[in-house]
Amino acid sequence: MKLPADALIAPSHPVARLPAEWEECVRAWGEPVYRAKQIFDWIHRRGVLDPDEMSNLPKSLRERMKKEGLGWPIAIVSEHESADQTRKLVVGMLDGERVETVLIPALGDDRIVTQCISSQVGCAMGCVFCASGVAGLKRQMSDAEIVSQVLLGRRELRPDQRIRNVVFMGMGEPLHNYDAVARALVLITHPDGLDLSKRRVTVSTSGLVKQIDRLGKDFDGRVQLAVSLHAVRDEDRSAIMPVNRKHGLDELTDALRRYPMPKRQRITIEYTLIKGVNDSLQDANGMVELLRGIPVKVNLIPMNPISASDLEAPDSSHVTRFQEQLTRRGLSVFVRKTRGDDVAAACGQLAFHGDGPRSAD
Ligand code: SAH
Ligand code: SF4
Repeated sequence: MKLPADALIAPSHPVARLPAEWEECVRAWGEPVYRAKQIFDWIHRRGVLDPDEMSNLPKSLRERMKKEGLGWPIAIVSEHESADQTRKLVVGMLDGERVETVLIPALGDDRIVTQCISSQVGCAMGCVFCASGVAGLKRQMSDAEIVSQVLLGRRELRPDQRIRNVVFMGMGEPLHNYDAVARALVLITHPDGLDLSKRRVTVSTSGLVKQIDRLGKDFDGRVQLAVSLHAVRDEDRSAIMPVNRKHGLDELTDALRRYPMPKRQRITIEYTLIKGVNDSLQDANGMVELLRGIPVKVNLIPMNPISASDLEAPDSSHVTRFQEQLTRRGLSVFVRKTRGDDVAAACGQLAFHGDGPRSAD
């Protein structure tokens, strides 16, 4: 299994160093090489970032790491728990910017947790139905800030809970911040660290074609890819997702056909259902044609309301009809249950702190 380590740019912060990079550091400091593994273990396996707590390291080394600036690049500013146990953490970064990460316990077994993380402060893609898109891009997140969401999220769990899935479905377009996201992917799947299975880490994109190719190549197609489709004709898609004006549906579906996936793995197609915009039976039929021959599973997401837009979800009976049409024509389809909407933690509601669902206005 090839790791893209040599394709990675340098880490921005000590938290984002890989074991080999720690080795270089400890060597330069005149310490034995095995210290590198101990440091990585503290940070990524145990989630301890304060050198003073790294009890098996000599004081001189701990002081050296403090000088290097090892410590949390993010902190929890506030926490909001939803009636369905979903927990939204508002996370502050050192320059005062804020993003959000969401802990979502599985419905049947709350010991298994999916964490949704952010990759940018805001988003440049401008999708009209999305709170992050409407807000625009404020800045990229660093590799350390991205991975620290998972390290911090894990500390918030009960002892019997664990993070099994990480999804890049919070604020931002992860493939528009490729270098930082690639390093975060290597870190959270590293066998000496958090050791998440690549299959259980999902990168969701609005369709940046070149970066989809790069992700496939760098990670051998093992990272789970999710693509936000949301419309099946170029004209309709360009109206709600400006990225489509640059990379149209032909180009996007060609990239999906090329994505080097292991057998039995399928690409997730996300389709946010918006009343009167993309929810007709012609749309359902068009989706079947468009995705023919691509191994996919479809996630339908009834649109969550945002304060900046009047767009809304169709009635639930219509959602079911749309789903049935796709199923009848051979696609495997799930309707994603809205989780955490009472605390504005649902898909597309993650915006700058304080924005919430329209119903809370
Ligand atoms: N930028 C990436 C990932 C973050 S958004 C992307 O667009 O794929 C995660 C998912 O939530 C995407 O499928 C996105 O289109 C969807 N989404 C955005 N706003 C939404 C809303 N208001 N209601 C439901 N889903 C929404
Ligand atoms: Fe960005 Fe994704 Fe929102 Fe589109 S849906 S604006 S790509 S975060």
